[in-house]
Amino acid sequence: MEPFQKLTVCLDMHGCPNRCRHCWLGVTPSGTLNEEDLRFVAAAFRPYTQEMEVFDWYREPDFHDGYQKRWELTQLLSDSKTPHFELASFWRAVRDPEYVPWLYGLGVRAVQLTVFGSEKTTDWFFGRRGAYQEILKTIDILLDNGIAPRIQTFVYQRNIDELPHILTLIRELKLKKRCQELGRTFEYFLHQGTCDGENEKLYEDWITPSEIDKIPQKLVDETLRYFQASSLQEVLGETEQELCKMLMQDHSVQSLVVREPVFYVDKNFDVYPNLSTPSPSYCLGNLKAEGAGKVVDTYCKNRSLAQNIRLTVPVSEMVKACGTPDSQRLFKRGDYMSYIHNRYCRQMIS
Ligand code: SF4
Repeated sequence: MEPFQKLTVCLDMHGCPNRCRHCWLGVTPSGTLNEEDLRFVAAAFRPYTQEMEVFDWYREPDFHDGYQKRWELTQLLSDSKTPHFELASFWRAVRDPEYVPWLYGLGVRAVQLTVFGSEKTTDWFFGRRGAYQEILKTIDILLDNGIAPRIQTFVYQRNIDELPHILTLIRELKLKKRCQELGRTFEYFLHQGTCDGENEKLYEDWITPSEIDKIPQKLVDETLRYFQASSLQEVLGETEQELCKMLMQDHSVQSLVVREPVFYVDKNFDVYPNLSTPSPSYCLGNLKAEGAGKVVDTYCKNRSLAQNIRLTVPVSEMVKACGTPDSQRLFKRGDYMSYIHNRYCRQMIS
């Protein structure tokens, strides 16, 4: 087995304080892993790659105490070092005065936050009371520390009527002007996310072309600018009906192995490629029980159930078995394929 060119390993050391209904990663219990666990994971995979990058999270970054030390450790364990993502913990931002200045010190100049509409709706999506107010506070803290907030919205039938609230919020908080004062452009976008993990449970609530006109033009313009798209269809995709028709003619199969994979390691040391929500069908094995060699071998030989199905079952067959040919729900083609693939895998397991 030739070593990977690069392997990125993300250990879910502390999980996440939120329980989001749109979470593609799923809302499994948070863990309490320690530095030794991170060192163990890095050392286990080291012989199988020319270059390695290690992360101490794949859900909410920095939310647990000791985030600075863990950041330093990941730098030490990594050959290549990606700058801190424009993702942050708003849970920590409102509780720890050192956190946002620390992000700034690392070079972070924009942070993405999610708002779904009103306070009640946003809290409902985050799965906990107080999330909306914490996000508003975080916006102020970020701006006071020289960091521009970026707002994203996941849009469903459930919250589409609340989009004007977001427009009002942007105006009342003067986000454009305040970002400009930092020399940044305020960014906003909406999309429907990928239909996996928790978000798949919102399938019934998925938007269709009949709701599109409810999106305020200003938010459409901001979204098109953000994605550099010329139409909302480019952003939201096609109807399931159109996709089913198209994909029923697609008889291709595919290996899901790449030379620079990203592995997610959960709190029980089960390993998954980051292709979809970490689920039993994607599991490559347990790092502690089976060792990295077995995990890498399973991945490289497409032996997880999900990989094996993608390698042997034509797209057309999966769509015939799991698609809903008269559905008007909107999907990007790749996201829809992933949704169908996940459904097909679950059928095989049950
Ligand atoms: S979407 Fe992000 S913040 Fe929400 S539960 Fe998932 S990992 Fe946590």
